[in-house]
Amino acid sequence: MHDIEKKSKSTQCVHGSLIPDGSGAVVTPIYQTSTFSFKDVDHGAGLFAGKGEGYIYTRIGNPTIRSLEKAVALLEDGYDGVGCGSGMAALHLAFASILKAGDHAICSESVYGPVVGLFTQQFGNWNVDVSFVDTTDVEKVRAALRPETTLIHIETPANPTMAVTDLAVVAELAHSHGAKMTVDNTFMSPILQRPFEHGADMVIHSMTKFINGHADVVAGMVVVKDEEDYKHVRKMSNAYGGTIDPFNSFLVARGIKTLAIRVEKQNVSGMKVAEFLESHPKVAKVMYPGLKSHPQYETHKKQASGPGGLISFELKGGLDAGKVLLNSVELCVLAVSLGGVETLIQQPAAMTHASMDPALRKQAGITDGLVRISVGIEELDDIIADLSQGFDKIG
Ligand SMILES: *Cc1c(COP(=O)(O)O)cnc(C)c1O
Repeated sequence: MHDIEKKSKSTQCVHGSLIPDGSGAVVTPIYQTSTFSFKDVDHGAGLFAGKGEGYIYTRIGNPTIRSLEKAVALLEDGYDGVGCGSGMAALHLAFASILKAGDHAICSESVYGPVVGLFTQQFGNWNVDVSFVDTTDVEKVRAALRPETTLIHIETPANPTMAVTDLAVVAELAHSHGAKMTVDNTFMSPILQRPFEHGADMVIHSMTKFINGHADVVAGMVVVKDEEDYKHVRKMSNAYGGTIDPFNSFLVARGIKTLAIRVEKQNVSGMKVAEFLESHPKVAKVMYPGLKSHPQYETHKKQASGPGGLISFELKGGLDAGKVLLNSVELCVLAVSLGGVETLIQQPAAMTHASMDPALRKQAGITDGLVRISVGIEELDDIIADLSQGFDKIG
């Protein structure tokens, strides 16, 4: 076998998910089975003791699921991955494997909406306290540290404000304090940003987004940097049971084959759409890490190889103008989610971040008039023409 670890990311996308089974299959098939037979009692007992080759039961491991876990871990340069039924299941698994009662966590204040509820309600009930902090400012992170802080969770660029956090600086702070840093890398995918290079301990993906890329699967992944942590996360996953299934694993592994070319196109189109928006007279402000006007433009350039396909912007006409635009677009799809082949457009304050406390929304800069676009792989001119005619409808 070629040494796949040493190949480029686009080659790893194509070849990283094959687990040869002796049949000559070019892709790992769907092992649609809940359980696996043992050769004899000693073989079965050995597998339960963590020895020998083979599978036990699909919640614990399955070749199709393993092929996907290996593929994503390879792309992130991590030790190994644990597939989950959704991105939220992956975030829950990562946090639950780090936090215990009495601990304190620090989380980026601009963050995927339901993460706020997960921390404040779920973990709050278990006596874990959380501080939502502007992690773009390392001094604010330092000031929020407590003796019992064991986790710092970062989204960069953050959903939906596109605020960028310096991963290496926060990782150093976390580690000098004995805390772990988890990074939600959903927005960038491993094609553009690999948080382990900057000190992350765990990388989480909603594979529902760029990794699968076709808006037909909900799935998540926790990729872990070292073996010991991985074994712990795996054990927790076996107990929680929020695993991905073989069929969805197959679909995501199929999506990954085109991840690099999709992201490359979305990266180029994203930049052009951001420039179009920034020059449009009806737009007040564009938040996109590829624009020099982005406050952390240099930080993003240092830790990621491109700005990606997500853009947030504010219209001069605020919420009402946004409504007109969203109701007028014809090609862009009015839907939440992101990272798929189709361009999606939505209003975070009314949709993805509606469940967030209004005070925290305000603190994080998620204004009522904010519009978020996930640029797809359609012809760029068609996307811009559609937005243009939508802008024309705003009075
Ligand atoms: C969508 C998303 C999630 C949650 O993923 P699901 O697959 O919907 O559970 C988490 N983080 C980010 C940044 C996301 O965009």
